[in-house]
Amino acid sequence: MAFDFSGQSVLVTGGTRGIGRAIVEAFAKAGARVAFTYRSSVQEAEALKAQLAAQGTEVLAFQADAADFEAAGRVVEAVLEAWGKIDVLVNNAGITRDNLLLRMSEADWDAVLAANLKSVFNFCKQVYRPMMRQRSGRIINISSVVGVVGNAGQTNYAASKAGIIGFSKSLARELGSRGITVNVVAPGYIETDMTAALPEQARQAMLSGIPLGRPGTPEDVAQAVLFLASPAAGYITGHVLHVDGGMAM
Ligand code: NDP
Repeated sequence: MAFDFSGQSVLVTGGTRGIGRAIVEAFAKAGARVAFTYRSSVQEAEALKAQLAAQGTEVLAFQADAADFEAAGRVVEAVLEAWGKIDVLVNNAGITRDNLLLRMSEADWDAVLAANLKSVFNFCKQVYRPMMRQRSGRIINISSVVGVVGNAGQTNYAASKAGIIGFSKSLARELGSRGITVNVVAPGYIETDMTAALPEQARQAMLSGIPLGRPGTPEDVAQAVLFLASPAAGYITGHVLHVDGGMAM
């Protein structure tokens, strides 16, 4: 599908690598102005900014921990100051700290819930008023197949990703009458830095559970996000779109 986001302002959290980067690049290709955040990958951020600017995209990059409410406020304020509006918010930033619950530390629980779930609260709350004033907006939150079906060794991650689904459905009900849609994309096994660390045995086990027989690409996820942000998805809200090759049907 060819998308056209000319004149639209898009904000993506965790945009320097993997799925977030593919989302940033896809919106830029479709003509949007794109702002993205990251936590520590300064070099990747600078390179991406230069790459997008060279192709004529208006781009803003912010080093900001998505788990930090005040930092989220500063990012949203800066984007509004530069471009006057935020049409699309994509909450993509996320981390894993896997372990069996028996061995999981409180710090690993807290870190994952903060980076993956509180971050979604932070940015949605910060764009709430501006989008209400605009009487339009698209919010797309990145969950995971693990938030739907669970996964041994990922209680913290699964809780954060299931939390995103409940949060998004509630917010979709709150904001529907204001012309704002809130949807979730639940990726399956996507090849990024996050999954590169998986041992070969775990990778094969994962692949055997995918009816389409291949891992997903960051671009597979990006296309689903652009669809949900596009006019074609204007009557879709509170939906969880699985982009997982059939893993969780
Ligand atoms: P990567 O680890 O490849 O990239 C994560 C991105 O998020 C980086 O740009 C990173 O920036 C940023 N980030 C992480 N924590 C923070 C933070 N606290 N504040 C700001 N930015 C942050 O991950 P993926 O691309 O694989 O995953 C992206 C999203 O998709 C995540 O929410 C993940 O849970 C979800 N997902 C991924 C799947 C997969 O198979 N890969 C499957 C299902 C869901 P920096 O490098 O600066 O830290």
